[in-house]
Amino acid sequence: MTALILSALLMSLIVGVRYLATSGFFAWTARRIRPDIYAPADEQKAARLNRQIRREIGWSLLSVAIYGIPAGIVAQLWQAHGLTRIYSDLSAMPLWWLPVSAFLYLAVHDTWFYWTHRAMHHWPALFRTAHAVHHESRPPTAWAAMSFHPWEALSAAWLIPALTFIIPIHHGALLLVLLIATFFGVTNHMGWEIFPRRWINGWFGRHIISASHHHLHHGLYQSNYGLYFRFWDRLCGTDKGFSSDLLRP
Ligand SMILES: [Zn+2]
Ligand SMILES: [Zn+2]
Repeated sequence: MTALILSALLMSLIVGVRYLATSGFFAWTARRIRPDIYAPADEQKAARLNRQIRREIGWSLLSVAIYGIPAGIVAQLWQAHGLTRIYSDLSAMPLWWLPVSAFLYLAVHDTWFYWTHRAMHHWPALFRTAHAVHHESRPPTAWAAMSFHPWEALSAAWLIPALTFIIPIHHGALLLVLLIATFFGVTNHMGWEIFPRRWINGWFGRHIISASHHHLHHGLYQSNYGLYFRFWDRLCGTDKGFSSDLLRP
């Protein structure tokens, strides 16, 4: 029991440092590239932005603890008891399984996110209870990556840990999934498109969600619900394309 608690604390610490380092780095970068968003000259705007960023960091740190608990349980059950389907020996599965397993984790995560996210926008009571916190940021900043109400954090925090009991994955591929989740969680909220317009208008942008796509969700609310891929949004007619504010020349 003590080992489980320590593991949960350690994972919360890792998730917290990961959040502060990634959001901090991209907020710092975005401040240089979009000072109009991150360092407005108008004093009132600057004060409002500071209050918003403090709120985003506060909610995110609460989410860090919620995400750390199932991650810590999995880490302990994997390391001490071998109870998950995480493997370290590359010969345990064919090499082609490495990218396939990473893609499966992202696809399941994206599917879960799309439908729960859409449900939260569909039912006003659910929106007010679980998702309004995430939309308090208008527009969001890189610090909003984990800015969720605890109910919303609870709805998602267990998913990837649960998948490790079902879908075999090499620990390196799992790390890649977590890096992708972190990178897109931060950059999709930073109010600045990191990818060149050529990419956004090409194959990448047609299939992968980046800031231009998610920024429109924060403006329109009733569209662009996806997390990594545009698949569900396009299939279900909820894809309204990109926010023109963010597209780089
Ligand atoms: Zn968002
Ligand atoms: Zn939303």
